[in-house]
Amino acid sequence: MTSKKGFTTKSLHAEFPKEDAYNALHMPVYDGVAYEFGSAEEIRDAFEGKHFAHAYSRTSNPTVEFFEKKLCGLTGAHGVVALASGMAAISNALLALVEKDGNIVASNQLFGHSYALLKETLPSWGIDVRFVDMGNMDEVGSRMDSNTRVLFFETITNPQLEVVDVSELCKLAHSKGVVVVADSTITPPYVFNSAQLGVDVEVMSSTKFMSGGAAAVGGVIIDNGLYDWGHLPALSCWADKFGKNAFLTRVRKEIFRHLGGCMTAHAAHFFNLGLDILALRVDRCVENCLALGEFFENHPKVSSVNYPGLPSNKYYTLSSSQFSGKPGAVMTIDLDTKDKCFEFLNHLEIVRRATNLNDNKTLIIHPESTIYCEFGDDEKKSMKIRDTMLRISVGIEDAGDLIDDFNQALSKI
Ligand SMILES: *Cc1c(COP(=O)(O)O)cnc(C)c1O
Repeated sequence: MTSKKGFTTKSLHAEFPKEDAYNALHMPVYDGVAYEFGSAEEIRDAFEGKHFAHAYSRTSNPTVEFFEKKLCGLTGAHGVVALASGMAAISNALLALVEKDGNIVASNQLFGHSYALLKETLPSWGIDVRFVDMGNMDEVGSRMDSNTRVLFFETITNPQLEVVDVSELCKLAHSKGVVVVADSTITPPYVFNSAQLGVDVEVMSSTKFMSGGAAAVGGVIIDNGLYDWGHLPALSCWADKFGKNAFLTRVRKEIFRHLGGCMTAHAAHFFNLGLDILALRVDRCVENCLALGEFFENHPKVSSVNYPGLPSNKYYTLSSSQFSGKPGAVMTIDLDTKDKCFEFLNHLEIVRRATNLNDNKTLIIHPESTIYCEFGDDEKKSMKIRDTMLRISVGIEDAGDLIDDFNQALSKI
C-alpha cells in the first residue's frame, strides 16, 4: 500500500505477513506456543537465522508480528518490536543501548515507574543516570560527556504537561553522538512524527491510546533507522554483523529474548483493533479537551487550566507544530485547596476516579496524594506536583455530558 494513504486507511488495510488459510478479514489470534517445521533442515535453518519462521511465542508470534509490521507501516519506521508493557519497552531499549559504565541523561519529569527504573534499577547495574530540566538546553548539554549514550525524555511530561522541543534536543544530542530515545505515549504516531524531528528510538506504552480503550497492557520499541549503530559501544559488534538492524537484532536476540517480556497474541489482537480506530479516538478526545478547556477557563472556581492545545497555553505554538495541533488528551486543572479537590472528586458522577491514561472513559486523579504519595515534600516540589492539581484523562464521551458532570460537581464545592 502506498504511503500516501491516510493513517486510518493504512491501518485498516494493512497486509497480513502471510495469506490466511481461511481468508479471515481480521488477523486471527494465534494463541499457541510452538510452530512445527516440515523437516530437520528447515528447523535448523530457522534457528540459524537463515530464514525467518515463528518457532516459539516468547520470541515471535504471528499476531504480534502483524501488529509490529502494521505499526511499522503506519510510522514509516525501520523496525518495531512489541513487548509486554511500556516499562518492558523502555527497560529493554535502554539495556540494549547502554553498556555498564555508560550513562543516560534523562528528564527530571518522567512517568513514575520510568523515573524509578532510572533512579534505582539501572544505577544498581552500573549505568549512571543524570536528571536534567529538558527545557534548559545549557543544562542538558553540560551534563552530557564522552560516556553519555542516551538522551531520554517524554514528548509531553505527565502530569506537568510541559512540552519538550524535540527537534532542538535531537540536534543537541546528535552533535555529541548521543542516541535520542523518546517516550511518546501521550502523543501517539497519528499526531507525532518522531522520525521527522530526529528521534532515533521511540518507545511507547501501547496500554494507553493504542489499546483501543484500556483493553490490554503492552509496549513498543520503534527504530527510526536514523542512527549509525556502529558508533555506539554497546552495538558496534552487532553493527559489524547486522548493519542497520543492529539495535533491533540485539533487542530481539538478546535483551528481549532473555528477559522474556513478550507481548501475548491476545494483547496484540487488541492493539491491532485499537490502531484501526486510533485516529477517530484521538480526534474526539482532542475535541473534548478543547471544549472542556474553554469551560474550565471560564469557571470562577477553577484557578488554572493546563492543556497544550489551548491558545492560552505557553506551549501552544510548539505543540501545534510538533503534534499537528493535537497534543494528546491529558489536561490538568487547579482548584483553591486540596480539600476542595477531594470534595470535587467525590461529587463526580460520570467521570471516574482512576489512574491510567487514554481510556475511552474520562478519568480523574489527584496526583499528589496517589501517584506521588511515596515522595517527600521537597521531591514533590522539585517535580512541580502541587496538592491543588487534578489530572484529567479526557475520554470519548459526549462533551456536553462531561461539562454537565464537572459543572454540577463544581457547583457543590
Ligand atoms: C503508562 C506509561 C508508561 C508505562 O507503561 P505500562 O504499559 O504501564 O508499562 C510509560 N511511559 C508513560 C509516559 C506512560 O504514561
